Amino acid sequence: MAEVETKALHPLMRLLLRVVHPAKGKIWTQADLAEVMGMLRFLKVFLITILLPGLVLALLGIRTIESDSNSMWAELREKADVATNATQDQIRDLFSQFEQRTLARIASGQSTVDSIGELSQHLRVAFVVDSTGKIIAPFRSPVATPSGENDLIFNDTWREAQVEFQSSNFAEAVHLFGAANAELRGDYADGASSWAQAVAMLNDGREQPAIQLLTVITEDLYSVRNAQGFRFGDLARLKLAEIELAKREQIGVNSLISLSDDLLDEVWTIGFGGEAAICVRALELLDGLADTTWLSAQRSRLESQTSELFWAGQAHNSIAPALRSVENLEEGAFSYSRTGPILWASTIDRDHTLLFAFELGTIEAEALQVAAASTEHTPEVEITVLAPQYRFAGEAIARAPLAEALLGWDLVSHTGEIGNLERRHKQTRRLKMVMIATPLMLLISGAFVSLRIVGREIEIASMKADFAANVSHDLRSPITQIRLKGEFLQLGLAEEDELQSHYDIIVRESERLSRLVDNVLDFSSIESGKKRYRVRPADITETVRIAVEAARFSMETRGIEMEVDLSEGMPVIIHEPEAIQQVIQNLISNAAKYGEPGGWIGISAKLGHNTVEIAVSDRGIGISDEDLPQIFEKFFRSESDIAQRQKGTGIGLTIVQYIMEAHHGAVRVKSSLGHGTTFTLHFPIRAPIASGL
Ligand code: ADP
Repeated sequence: MAEVETKALHPLMRLLLRVVHPAKGKIWTQADLAEVMGMLRFLKVFLITILLPGLVLALLGIRTIESDSNSMWAELREKADVATNATQDQIRDLFSQFEQRTLARIASGQSTVDSIGELSQHLRVAFVVDSTGKIIAPFRSPVATPSGENDLIFNDTWREAQVEFQSSNFAEAVHLFGAANAELRGDYADGASSWAQAVAMLNDGREQPAIQLLTVITEDLYSVRNAQGFRFGDLARLKLAEIELAKREQIGVNSLISLSDDLLDEVWTIGFGGEAAICVRALELLDGLADTTWLSAQRSRLESQTSELFWAGQAHNSIAPALRSVENLEEGAFSYSRTGPILWASTIDRDHTLLFAFELGTIEAEALQVAAASTEHTPEVEITVLAPQYRFAGEAIARAPLAEALLGWDLVSHTGEIGNLERRHKQTRRLKMVMIATPLMLLISGAFVSLRIVGREIEIASMKADFAANVSHDLRSPITQIRLKGEFLQLGLAEEDELQSHYDIIVRESERLSRLVDNVLDFSSIESGKKRYRVRPADITETVRIAVEAARFSMETRGIEMEVDLSEGMPVIIHEPEAIQQVIQNLISNAAKYGEPGGWIGISAKLGHNTVEIAVSDRGIGISDEDLPQIFEKFFRSESDIAQRQKGTGIGLTIVQYIMEAHHGAVRVKSSLGHGTTFTLHFPIRAPIASGL
């Protein structure tokens, strides 16, 4: 057989050879190479036609799974974007509408401080400020709280007057309040003592002088305010109207109507709620006396004006920073800034600045409401309105500014109930995974199995190649011997005393030859499934004896001792004696081949448990544990050097096993490496006659 030097091989090939045949040395046969090449060819075809396309498909599948999980986020982001945009649009609309309406008013010369609810429902108060920063409308800038109360407190006459008044000594009180008035200076003292004197007079039942005094107050001291911020004029008018109401109702009603009208038409002063309070009282008195429609219109006017006054009180301190934001502002443009609870909008109207104070809280509430409504049909997404002072703690899907006017306010979209969406995406993902994993696993296991099968086939193919070579090798040896000895005899070259030995060799070698041919023929008919045995009840001991005798001559010439121990009285066994003789001869031949030279072979036949056991033992090389499970496989030959020294074809034991199975028996082996081997044939005592036998 051709041999190949490893040196001449490609390193990769050398590596592969080593993997396939780890036990081999440096020399490799062509068959080994062919085996590896066959495997490589198979691998190539498998790689190109199955594994690569499979992997590409799997990769694509995994990519689609990945994009699937991205698509869930994309879906969420899209929904978040829609909701965010809707919220932004509505809130921006709120401001753009306000701006449009305001600009329309400016253009038509209408007031921008009246009916501010029509400009925006979140507007609480509006101011017109002149170029010096002074408020012109709708209120007056706050003035200092009236002083003068202290002068009264430290005046003895005033204090005495008060004591008298509280003790209901009204006449005395009237007198003392008059005296105090004369003692004290200033409008405040004048107003306060006149008012107190008039009230004392009324309590004293002196209505006429009281009316006179009250009329004086309304004429001379109208705008003087008391400590609570009430104008004495308003107090006096209210009191006069009350007096009239009791006497001449209609006159009283008219006075109250004109009082409330005057109060509402007046420009109030920031920080003083007196006018509003007097107006409330006047309208209370008119309840049931004046026209109800007029009354309710008056009340709502009062309500909005009072609220504006309140907000003006809250806001006027932060007017200065709001005014700064107007610097460099073009006409018709608005700038926005924030101070505390107020969002300022400012614009310019010629040399005046218009300031609008929005209530931030209600804008925020509306933004929240709008955001909630925008995600009403997409529970997977929620939108939070985030004020500048807050941070968003969760995981946001997207973040966008709420509106230009609300600088710092953000709309943060985050996940809501994504359970359903996630479940749906998870299910598809799982399904896809199974769809990818199953064929991939089948592919891998298929590859593994095919590789094993191909490996095995290649191995068998190589064994077959070995077999053909081994058979020819095995044939040549006896034929050469026979021919040599025959020619020797034919030419009369043999001495008389050597004749017998020549004949012996010719007979022994012919027997070997015929056994080899028998084995090969048997093997081929076994392989093709044509082998039939003609079984019959026969004496098994006799069969063994014939086989032993047939081998004896050959063994003796090789100096091998055969120890035969055949028990008598064996039951009759159904078998084909010729086939079983072939079995025993194969075993004896192996025992001789793999036994020690000039060694020993033991053959025994004895009764076992329901079986007849025929054993063939030797004290030879033994069989390694690694080889033991394989020795009955066709073409198997041990690769150990010592076994390889013997010629063989690797089919002897295959035939032995086949024949034994055909006889419903079994062959078992026990071996100890370096000490010897025993093959035992087990024949069932009452074997049924199987079909085909
Ligand atoms: P071969 O023609 O090689 O002898 P067989 O089928 O008869 O083929 O045996 C298969 C292999 O089993 C042998 O190559 C040998 O390695 C091993 N073998 C068989 N009989 C014995 C034995 N008695 N002692 C040791 N090894 C044996």
